[in-house]
Amino acid sequence: MRYIDTHTHLDFPDFDLDRQQVLARCAEVGVERLVILGVYQQNWDQVWRLVEADDRLFAAFGLHPVYLEQHQSAHLDELADRLKRLAGHPQLCAVGEIGLDYFLAQLDRERQQQLFDNQLSLAAEVDLPALLHVRRAHADTIALLKRHRLPRGGIVHAFAGSLEEAREYIKLGFKLGLGGAATWPQAKRLRRTLAALPINSLVLETDSPDMAPSFHAHQRNSPEFLPQICQELAAVRGEPANVLAQACLHNSCELFGWPCAAVT
Ligand code: ZN
Repeated sequence: MRYIDTHTHLDFPDFDLDRQQVLARCAEVGVERLVILGVYQQNWDQVWRLVEADDRLFAAFGLHPVYLEQHQSAHLDELADRLKRLAGHPQLCAVGEIGLDYFLAQLDRERQQQLFDNQLSLAAEVDLPALLHVRRAHADTIALLKRHRLPRGGIVHAFAGSLEEAREYIKLGFKLGLGGAATWPQAKRLRRTLAALPINSLVLETDSPDMAPSFHAHQRNSPEFLPQICQELAAVRGEPANVLAQACLHNSCELFGWPCAAVT
């Protein structure tokens, strides 16, 4: 089977000692493409350096809500310049990671909304999908997406909302990113929702090094675990793993505008 990890932070120092070995093991298990997401201005260069050196890697750039205190208004201009300069580059695939995080009470909500709003405008302007981080903020996120109506949609990463919220995102052209969180038997509500989601709305992700799956509890998460994560999610949904893997591959290629046949 072939897989695309639609959400990794492979640039993080957690992988500094063995990044190339991790990528070699990914190739062995069929993880053929990986999307690395920039989260603040300081890591964009490192993300692009990695991507330029390996044609299996794809970059997204954005200002993540959790790092709100580190962002400056000049970074938004820099993001716009970077996205426009790289426009049309085959390894630039999205704007992200962007979104709203209401779980962390110290993050000012109005400033988050302003930053997210600006970046959604940018995604529309440069005609790229948006990769979203949303925690306890689905209603405001959906309201903003309705205003922007991104022509290429995007992915709600680590989706943990309700079935109704999932339907709203799907109507807005978004896919739902699923990974390690749903492998935990304790995640009962998420697993019930997962089982009811339409297969054409799903994409796979690890969010490595975070969100370790249950079978590697409290360890560094890694994109090489994606096939096993897929197997666990397929079991929750009651369908064969190869059916889910194939659908997620197709859905990811469609979203990023990659010809599926070209994924070798
Ligand atoms: Zn992330």
